[in-house]
Amino acid sequence: MIHLSCHGAARQVTGSCHLIETGRARVLVDCGLFQGSRELAEDNAEAFGFDPSRIDALVLTHAHLDHCGRIPLLVKRCFRGRIFSTAPTRELARLVLIDAAGLQEEEARRAARHAARRKERAPWPLYTLAEAFHSLDFFDGTASYGEGIEVADGVRATFMNAGHILGSASVLLELEDQGGARTIYVSGDIGSCGRPLLDDPQAPPVPPDYVVMETTYGDRDHRAWSASIDELIEAVAATQARGGNVIIPTFALERAQDVLYALSVGLAQGRLPKHLAVFLDSPMAISATEIFARYPQAMRTDVHARLRAHDPFALPGLRMTRETADSMAINAIRGGAVILAGSGMATGGRVRHHLRHNLGVAHASILFVGYAANGTLARRIIDGARQVRLFDEDITVRAQIHTINGFSAHAGQTELLDWLSRCGTPRGVFLVHGDEDRGMRAFGEQLQRRRQPWHMPSAGETIALP
Ligand code: ZN
Repeated sequence: MIHLSCHGAARQVTGSCHLIETGRARVLVDCGLFQGSRELAEDNAEAFGFDPSRIDALVLTHAHLDHCGRIPLLVKRCFRGRIFSTAPTRELARLVLIDAAGLQEEEARRAARHAARRKERAPWPLYTLAEAFHSLDFFDGTASYGEGIEVADGVRATFMNAGHILGSASVLLELEDQGGARTIYVSGDIGSCGRPLLDDPQAPPVPPDYVVMETTYGDRDHRAWSASIDELIEAVAATQARGGNVIIPTFALERAQDVLYALSVGLAQGRLPKHLAVFLDSPMAISATEIFARYPQAMRTDVHARLRAHDPFALPGLRMTRETADSMAINAIRGGAVILAGSGMATGGRVRHHLRHNLGVAHASILFVGYAANGTLARRIIDGARQVRLFDEDITVRAQIHTINGFSAHAGQTELLDWLSRCGTPRGVFLVHGDEDRGMRAFGEQLQRRRQPWHMPSAGETIALP
C-alpha cells in the first residue's frame, strides 16, 4: 500500500514537507522552513516525524525557503539520498540556503550574547554555513520540464512548470507498489496566470489518481498583472515629474525581477525617461537576477526572445550596488531615482536606510509590491501611520504611499480551480500550504460543490492511498 504523510504545511502555510512511501521506496517532496512567528521558528528544531536516514530521495519543487529551508538540517540528521530539482531551482536554492545559514549563525551569536549575560547555555544555530554548503553536495539530479526521471526504486518523477518562480515545478510521481501502480501530482506552489516573466502553470502529463495541492489564496482572486504593471509605471512617472525618489521595498527572489521587467516595459513604451536611474540595492537580488539571466529558456517565450535582443533586466540607467559603500552613496541622491532594496516588509536590510532618507520627503514615493504581515514596518506605513520610528529617530511620513497588490506569485481561487480541473477527476485531493480557517476550508467548500472528495491532512497523519 502507498502512504502519504505531511510533516509541514499541514493546515498551515509554511514548512512544506510531504513523505510518500511505497513498499520499495521513501520519497520526500520538499523540506521547508517554518516561518512567520517565534513559535513556528521553534518548530524547525523539532524531530521531522520520520527517520531522515531512511529517505531514498528528495524531490524539491522550488527554491523558496518555506520549501527548501530545512534541507541542511535533514542532511545534518543523516539523510543520504539524492536531491532532485530543475537546474534554476538548484542555483536559487544555493543562494537561499547560504543566506539562511548566515542569518541562523547571526541569530545564534545574538542569542549567545544574551545567554552569556544571564549565565545560560548558548543555543546552537539550526545549521551553520558549513552545514548548508555540505547539503548542496546532495543535489545531483537535474530535471527538465516534461521529462520523467527515476528518483528511487519504482518511483518516476516528472517535473512540470508551476509558473510560480523561476525553475518552480509541480511534480507527477508514478509509484509502483505490490498493490499496483498509482500516480500522485504534488503541486508545489502554483503560479498566477499572465505573469510577465513566467509561463502559466502546466497540466500534468496524465490525469493523476491523487492530488496534493497548495491553497494559499484558496479564498480569493487577485487583480490582473497587466493592471498592476500599469499602476507601477504611473506611480514612478508621477514621482519623476515631481522630482522625488521612488523606494520599492522588495523580496530578492522573483519580485525584484518582476519590478525590473515592469520598469523596462515602461521604458519601451516611452512612459518613463530613457535613462531613468534605477538602483538594485540588494546583493541577494543581484545574484538572483544574474541566475534569471542565465536561464532564458525557463521564462516566457517572448521574454526569451527579448533576452536574445537585449537583457530585459539591463535597463540603461540600472546600477547594481553590492557593496555597502555604494549603497550608502545612494542616500545622497535627493530625487529622480528608483531604489529597489530589501527586505520586502522593511523589517531589516538596506531599505530601512532609504526609508529613513525619503519617508519624510513630500515629493518622494514608497511603493509596496508584496505581502506585508501584521506588526512589520511595511504594514504600519501601508495602514497610514503618520509617524514611524527608524534608527531611534521619529520620522513624520510625508511621502506618497502606494500599495500595488497584483504582483502575486500565487494563483488565486479561480486559477486554483482551473488548475485542478486540468487534473481530471482524482480519487482524492489533499489540501496543504494554506491557512486552515481561510484559504483551505473555503477551497474545500468549492470542491464539495463539485463533488470532489478532499481532505486537509493534519501534521504527521498517515493516509493510505488505495
Ligand atoms: Zn513559493
